[in-house]
Amino acid sequence: MDKLSTVILKPGEADRVAGGHPWIYQGSILRLTQPVEDGGLVQIKDHRQRLLGVGFYNSKSKIQVRVLARDRVEVDDAFFAGRIQAAVAWRQKYLPGATSFRVVNAEGDFLSGLIVDKYEEVLVIQTSSLGMDRHKAAITRVLENIFQPRAILERNDMSSRSFEGLPEVQGILAGSLGEGQPPVAGGGPEGGTDAASRRSWIRINDLEFFVNLTAGHKTGFYLDQQVNYRRVAELAKGARVLDCFCFQGGFSLHAARAGAVSIHALDQSQEALDTARQNAEANHLSGGCTFEAANVFDWLKAHTTTRPNEKLIPKFDLVILDPPSFTRNRSSIPEAMRGYKEIHLRAFKLVRPGGTVATFCCSHHVDAGMFQEVILEAAFDARRVLRRVAAYQPSPDHPVVPAIPESEYLKGFAFEVLA
Ligand code: SAH
Repeated sequence: MDKLSTVILKPGEADRVAGGHPWIYQGSILRLTQPVEDGGLVQIKDHRQRLLGVGFYNSKSKIQVRVLARDRVEVDDAFFAGRIQAAVAWRQKYLPGATSFRVVNAEGDFLSGLIVDKYEEVLVIQTSSLGMDRHKAAITRVLENIFQPRAILERNDMSSRSFEGLPEVQGILAGSLGEGQPPVAGGGPEGGTDAASRRSWIRINDLEFFVNLTAGHKTGFYLDQQVNYRRVAELAKGARVLDCFCFQGGFSLHAARAGAVSIHALDQSQEALDTARQNAEANHLSGGCTFEAANVFDWLKAHTTTRPNEKLIPKFDLVILDPPSFTRNRSSIPEAMRGYKEIHLRAFKLVRPGGTVATFCCSHHVDAGMFQEVILEAAFDARRVLRRVAAYQPSPDHPVVPAIPESEYLKGFAFEVLA
């Protein structure tokens, strides 16, 4: 431990780290006391030599140090076991009963560079920093001990790995996917895991969903909406629902189970819609559901454009908007805001007075204040008055650490829409 190289921070640069932010950029570093290999462990001190912690170093990354611990620790199996067990305990406390959830959410669980998702008996991991990637074997051992999973997959096929000088890879780190059992006796139409397509069953709030573990969005499913599915469904009883950007039917199925009269779900991806339809059938909820392949912007426009003197009759009691992030970076914020305004303006026109719009924004460049602001502008233009029914955040398996603004991304609201 004494042999660790030390990264000394410039004056004024230590507070953020002391406050709990684990990223140290090149510009914050005064000097290194001795050369260190990329991916290796360093200790971090302020310019007065006070210890701030230890972290992984990578000269190739913009984030040159990722703090792992606030004191001097060995980064070994016991370290990962401690952190991962603490993460599991948090889920058991705040998301009790869940069988599929995010086990480790990187910075939110004080493990910058590591994501672990649990899909019933299969774990999927992503390592997005060089230091973390080098400890994949230890992490795999620890996960096997804690969960005895059927398989551990690596979904390191994200392009952001190049920022750390890492290749895109995907594969099985432990176990096999072939011979799984469905999560419940009898299971769904196919049951268990289909080895050819690597599609598995997961249970979310007692509904069954297919996930494609090797090709899905993120690591396969939007686990961060798990609690919001339930909360939005509370608004759906007896409602005619429009689910925009429905993906594989997360909100639609929950709304159907909660007693929605009808659900019309839109997504531009035919593949996602095919899965959504299958999910609805597997849960015996397809009765009132219709799924349509469409660009939501075009669809909303077509359904809110009227001829001269024609009055638009709003048809929906609940409109759900859960688009992908419209921003990649700061410079795309204005365009994103126009997009948010457009879909809200049109959603408000389609909601009957007294109905509800439940809406989400997963861009961390657009905070809750900005998001609500643009929604209000849209309401103004649509001549509607809003009353806020709910505010949403990511499910507790995606913990938010306020000292790390980047851990804050998903926010949402439900508004009652008055004429
Ligand atoms: N609500 C979903 C997640 C939505 S993810 C859930 O909880 O599971 C965003 C979805 O929007 C993706 O399925 C993507 O195919 C779709 N999408 C992106 N842009 C679109 C557009 N312009 N029109 C329709 N669908 C779009």
